[in-house]
Amino acid sequence: MKGTLKNIRDSGLQTKGFLIVLSGPSGAGKNSVMNAVFPTIPNLKYSISVTTRPPRTGEVDAVNYFFRTEEEFDQMIEEDQLLEWATFVGYRYGTPKGFVYDQICLGNAVIMDIDIQGAAQIREKMPEAVFVFLLPPTWEELSKRLKQRGSDSKEVIRQRLAKSQEEIKHIVDYDYFIVNDDLNQAAEQLRRIIHSEWSRVSRIDTEQLERAWKGER
Ligand code: 5GP
Repeated sequence: MKGTLKNIRDSGLQTKGFLIVLSGPSGAGKNSVMNAVFPTIPNLKYSISVTTRPPRTGEVDAVNYFFRTEEEFDQMIEEDQLLEWATFVGYRYGTPKGFVYDQICLGNAVIMDIDIQGAAQIREKMPEAVFVFLLPPTWEELSKRLKQRGSDSKEVIRQRLAKSQEEIKHIVDYDYFIVNDDLNQAAEQLRRIIHSEWSRVSRIDTEQLERAWKGER
């Protein structure tokens, strides 16, 4: 049958991969929201960052982060292995380039949890990326969550809270914002953003679409 939607779906229409940058104050719940979304979108991949921060209890190397020494981090910068990197409350964090480029070439969406400085670097290099800012419902709630997490000292919590006031000013540079009041709702909102972005005409091969629509291969 010519020109049916089924025809188009069966044609293996290729969508271009893209990058989703997720930022928001430390304690906003970026990990929880992403973890709720991953099982429902198989071609959404997580970019594991490199950091010089020591692991928190329960964090696993090559799952949560690639935990590296200052020297190893220096070497990665020298070898141009990082797409972006920044210093956040005393430690360095960066995105390995290879994984992101490979996944995008495969047509997958890659999500990365990075701070506002890293997001600014991505905006320069890859303006077609999607920028999402996750907000805790209130400053008070953020403060409560950071204390409850129990993984950081009082001083680090103080620094992270101070940082959050600066970060929130940069929300104007983002495409979408999500308020993480209710985890399921926040995850649903992120899911919808990703699906909508996948439907952008700019992310498909329009010639292939036309051929499939006409019933040609
Ligand atoms: P945490 O220490 O709480 O895991 O992360 C601290 C901050 O570093 C968070 O705002 C997080 O988004 C940011 N971050 C994590 N990975 C990266 C990265 O690869 N690059 C940049 N620029 N920031 C990152």
